Amino acid sequence: MAFDYDLFVIGGGSGGVRAARVAAAEGAKVAIAEESRLGGTCVIRGCVPKKLMVFASSYREEFADARSYGWDVMAGDFDWSKFSRHLNTELDRLEGVYRSLLDGSKVEIFDSRAVLDDAHTVRLSDGTTKTAKHILIATGGHPVRPDMPNAHLGMVSDDIFHMTDLPKSILIVGGGYIACEFSCILNGLGVEVTQVYRGAQILRGFDEEARGLISDMMREQGVNLHVGTNIVEMGPAGAGHGADGAAMGAPAGEVVAERSDVVGGPVRVKQTNGTEAVYDAVLFATGRAPNTANMGLEEAGVEIGRRGEIVVDDYSQTGVPSIYAIGDVTNRVNLTPVAIREGMAFVETVFKGNPTPVDHHLIPSAVFTQPEFGTIGLSEEEARDQEPIEVYCTSFRPMQTAFAGRPDRVLMKLVVSKATRRVLGCHIVAPAAGEMIQLAGIAVKMGATKEDFDRTVAVHPTMSEELVTMKSPVRSA
Ligand code: NDP
Repeated sequence: MAFDYDLFVIGGGSGGVRAARVAAAEGAKVAIAEESRLGGTCVIRGCVPKKLMVFASSYREEFADARSYGWDVMAGDFDWSKFSRHLNTELDRLEGVYRSLLDGSKVEIFDSRAVLDDAHTVRLSDGTTKTAKHILIATGGHPVRPDMPNAHLGMVSDDIFHMTDLPKSILIVGGGYIACEFSCILNGLGVEVTQVYRGAQILRGFDEEARGLISDMMREQGVNLHVGTNIVEMGPAGAGHGADGAAMGAPAGEVVAERSDVVGGPVRVKQTNGTEAVYDAVLFATGRAPNTANMGLEEAGVEIGRRGEIVVDDYSQTGVPSIYAIGDVTNRVNLTPVAIREGMAFVETVFKGNPTPVDHHLIPSAVFTQPEFGTIGLSEEEARDQEPIEVYCTSFRPMQTAFAGRPDRVLMKLVVSKATRRVLGCHIVAPAAGEMIQLAGIAVKMGATKEDFDRTVAVHPTMSEELVTMKSPVRSA
């Protein structure tokens, strides 16, 4: 049977675009459909704009530090609308880059939603169908709000980039990557930030000592962080909603107003600990879910897992042989570089005849809190459950900020196997920890031992030199 394309990719984010381009470079006839903007979550409403906001938010303290270094500077005010205009221009530019890369690779672009019709057919929004020998689903995920009355009054991370003004105060709900990053960003931009997390400590799953230092530093910098609490009620803080909090708004399911009317509008919130307060805005950073709804997946025989994810094997193949899926829609490791690797491995497997599973082991990552957190491998807690370990750890005030009189501390930590001496985990809380862990991650991925780290001469004076100069374990377990 002759197909319209060798490959039809649904979803123009990092993973889908890379797979489309690389497959086309192999001589495949490729099309891609994107219902929103090319670039996807990472470029349009995730990593890229978020990191630019991290940069924007870091200047406040840098101006203050500069004064300690002899510079006669004043920070002045932050102009959100100026930054936001510049940000949007940059995102338009990047979207254009993605489009021209696809054009240059001779990938046909459909600016349209696409759903499955059957194992070899996709249907576009205008009703037309296209057939393909292989279909790759790379539709990503979306932020989810908790299931509670009036939850629509709260923003999700997508909305942050569309704010016309910065709120004076914000309540951020959640303790994961997004909650902690935006707490630090908005705090740095001068917003009064309150963060509530239902668990005992933010950043669940990461090394406890690192989590402890990050939460201490966030509080030190002014984030009003409350753990062990959640929100139980929320409603518009307008007329009829008295200070006693008697009327918190509509019951579940009742629509109070369209989203665009309420984003940034004052919201009255009640917490499980009894606290009640009004915030200019609420941000739900309560997790993300795969984009699999109403896509014809189950009808085409594709298995959907418990969390709405597409179930795939090690080669990103679904139970339907012609249909593959990569990236957040598969809910494996939800990071851009992982989606890109999954896309490359898919092309290697399907178009280069070289079956390539994706290696999801020992992936370095960073949380762009302030200070940043760079991490790879096992936390101390995970490692000691696995085998006897030694822990090498140091926490200190780094030269640059100590000189400026800031109390900031950093942390350098290695978790080492007693039996093999291999570094099982490396955890860094420090400015630019994301940059550091990228490099330390190579050594850990290569299986470096503590002695390999020790044999490496320190680069002085740096913060990361501590990683190669820690002589004695602080504890064994
Ligand atoms: P996470 O899953 O990391 O965090 C969700 C948070 O919300 C958790 O603290 C969770 O609590 C809490 N939560 C969930 N449901 C509720 C609820 N009903 N009420 C109150 N709290 C709730 O999701 P994020 O949205 O922060 O990030 C999604 C993914 O995106 C990350 O896992 C990561 O893979 C990726 N990402 C990566 C970044 C990076 O690399 N720097 C940056 C941003 C995102 P609990 O812990 O108790 O479950």
